[in-house]
Amino acid sequence: MKVTRALRKLRGSIHPQYFKGLTADAPITTMPAPAKLFVSMAQHLGAPAKPIVAKGDIVVQGQCIAEAAGFISAPVHAPASGKVLEVDTAPTPAGTMAPRIIIETDPQNTETQTLPPMPEWQKQPRETLLARIAEAGIAGMGGAGFPTRVKLSPPADKPIDTLIINGAECEPYLTADHRLMVEHSAGIVNGIRIICHLLEVKHVHVAIEENKPSAIEAMQQALEQLDGVEASVCILPTEYPQGAEKQQISMTTGREVPSGGLPMDVGCVVENVGTVLAVANAILEGLPLTHRVTTVTGHIVQTPQNVLAPIGTTYADLVAFCGGLTNPAAKVISGGPMMGMAQPSLEGSTTKTSSGLVFLEERRVHVYRSLPCIGCGRCIEACPMDLIPAAISYTVEGGDYDKAEALNILDCIECGCCAFVCPASRPLVQHFKLAKPKIIVKRRQAAAAKGTA
Ligand code: SF4
Ligand code: SF4
Repeated sequence: MKVTRALRKLRGSIHPQYFKGLTADAPITTMPAPAKLFVSMAQHLGAPAKPIVAKGDIVVQGQCIAEAAGFISAPVHAPASGKVLEVDTAPTPAGTMAPRIIIETDPQNTETQTLPPMPEWQKQPRETLLARIAEAGIAGMGGAGFPTRVKLSPPADKPIDTLIINGAECEPYLTADHRLMVEHSAGIVNGIRIICHLLEVKHVHVAIEENKPSAIEAMQQALEQLDGVEASVCILPTEYPQGAEKQQISMTTGREVPSGGLPMDVGCVVENVGTVLAVANAILEGLPLTHRVTTVTGHIVQTPQNVLAPIGTTYADLVAFCGGLTNPAAKVISGGPMMGMAQPSLEGSTTKTSSGLVFLEERRVHVYRSLPCIGCGRCIEACPMDLIPAAISYTVEGGDYDKAEALNILDCIECGCCAFVCPASRPLVQHFKLAKPKIIVKRRQAAAAKGTA
């Protein structure tokens, strides 16, 4: 086990106030199931899961309640035992509509359903292990929600030699991954062992920002138990967006993912620490993904903390578990303040990707009054992807999506650095989020027309 440092400096980047001290030392607390769970079928990238239960059905914790609806999809399991009150459609934290299952939980029903544990997993065929990861409903828990089975199945012409474990957690306020590394380092290393076996890789870097010394120490000690693989803890400077996939690869290996490319194009797979732990739990204990740790935080939260809660817990129940608010919230964000989504109410509920719930009081909320661009170039300096945010934004505003595509808008990782530094408060990221899906759809339609999709 080695300790290394980032191989290069992050391009662009910013240094927001982090406020991680609110919860960094708060041990993970387990929240009992609330009276009702609101479980979205769109907790992952790809097709929403298809419900296989109906109103009135009795379900037990861990039971599959919705099946994957395609290759890029993931099943959903009951986070607690109870009765299905309704199967309806509701907004996701990202604002899109998706099917949802509402469960009235039953605290008297302590039955749980698990999959058979695989203590001798090394003897299992690769496809069996991948099928288990799929069956357990595991999707990237760092925020992207990409189905893990797909990510761990690179095509034969894309050999992987390096696994990167993302423990950077560079978003302000969030400390869920930090606490997982401190409290579950052995479980994370079990997951690393399984993924190294699956990918047949010999190098693993656990990338952690230097503002988490307790996580660095815990992972160093736990990695001593990892045999047959060259492992390192790579200490990264505290800079945002250090946790982005392409940035992690560059920092830890010196490799650059080409424009439009994927980590597998440079022989890497990047997995979040929470995802890795979920893989270990699914293989070794047969546990489907039903709970996750969410940082519930902000200066107006009575007791900010890292909460292990059943997926589908409403924001209202989560904050009530943390003692409620000391003052009214002017903004509530699902995720971190840089890449998260502002929520219209506390009626929304957690998903597999809910890393945080941040409550901001009025004085911390910047009210956007967008002005014309003054051509200062600060957004260009701040962009970690070497883009020209001001120019892309104007092309989107003018409806010229072809030009936006030519300016590499699809390389934008929506980190928000450009908007953070913009003195004119231009709605840069909003423009990019609006245009990117349209361009992707257009590309797919063009490929389908040519018969190459
Ligand atoms: S949001 Fe996109 S354009 Fe803006 S800084 Fe991040 S990567 Fe660059
Ligand atoms: S930072 Fe804002 S004002 Fe400055 S060039 Fe970029 S978009 Fe224009």
